[in-house]
Amino acid sequence: MPHSETWLRVLPAGLYCEPGGFYVDPVRPVDRAIITHAHSDHARPGHGAVLASAETLALMDQRMGEGRAGVSQQALGYGERITLGEVGVWIEPAGHVLGSSQVAMEWRGSRVVVSGDYKREADPTCRPFVPIPCDVFVTEATFALPVFRHPPAEDEVAKLLASVALFPERTHVVGAYALGKAQRVIALLRQAGWEQPIYVHGATEAVCRVYERLGIGMGELRPATVAAKGEMQGGIVVAPPSAVADRWARRFADPVSCMASGWMQVRQRARMKGVELPLVISDHADWDGLNATLDEVAAPEVWVTHGREEALIHEAAKRGIRGRALRLIGYGDEDEEAA
Ligand SMILES: [Zn+2]
Ligand SMILES: [Zn+2]
Repeated sequence: MPHSETWLRVLPAGLYCEPGGFYVDPVRPVDRAIITHAHSDHARPGHGAVLASAETLALMDQRMGEGRAGVSQQALGYGERITLGEVGVWIEPAGHVLGSSQVAMEWRGSRVVVSGDYKREADPTCRPFVPIPCDVFVTEATFALPVFRHPPAEDEVAKLLASVALFPERTHVVGAYALGKAQRVIALLRQAGWEQPIYVHGATEAVCRVYERLGIGMGELRPATVAAKGEMQGGIVVAPPSAVADRWARRFADPVSCMASGWMQVRQRARMKGVELPLVISDHADWDGLNATLDEVAAPEVWVTHGREEALIHEAAKRGIRGRALRLIGYGDEDEEAA
């Protein structure tokens, strides 16, 4: 069996599968790319042929403009196997945002799985992560420190609703990344029984409409920009974190600044951003989620793309798993980038 390093290489454009002739989430324009999900650090414009889930392609079109996601696009269903060059390829859900996928590759009996970004908690807006046993697991490590343990998102949304009940004169303005986090927060609010209209920023609304078109209900949404100040008293607004920090949020009646992010576990960050009500809601696996995943996929070797790789590699080594830091340049965390 060939060692994975001989057929999967880190090139300046990103992770390249040589016998397959394609990149996964390249950071520069390439001839053939497989895209794990539509966040801008993974899905970039200007590629030739692009393969991704239908949902990811739809979200890429929305974010980049029709046709800019690739000269040609091919949608892959979860579990649907294809052959690229000499390599068998399929995707499985990553549980990160709608359409997010892990990419599984097989060549001469060796199997590598690239996770993309992922989380293990349930999310009403996307399919749950499917562990795929493999020889090499390529993982993210955004929250790979033992201090990062994310509480159930339902509990955080319950905190938000308790605060809304406590301050009926004020408007709760929730900073949530426009793709994924915002829709998850809205869906969680609906699950918790919040049936009133939710007011949304234009950037958030555009993505919500794609989610709805793809079958993920959001309930009644109203543009926060046209609703009257009085109407939004006692209500909930969802907007990108940058808008919440900005003049944009001053239009609301005595706003309560909230932020939905895994980083809200770090109290200084919340304080620095002037966040009154931090909501620890993450679309990335926490420390336990990352380690449980390494055990479930049972790969003897793990490659870490970006994040806190040292801690994860050290922890994996204790269980006999070989670790390798790929130090891929160009990936970040969408919440961090937004905040
Ligand atoms: Zn992402
Ligand atoms: Zn990412």
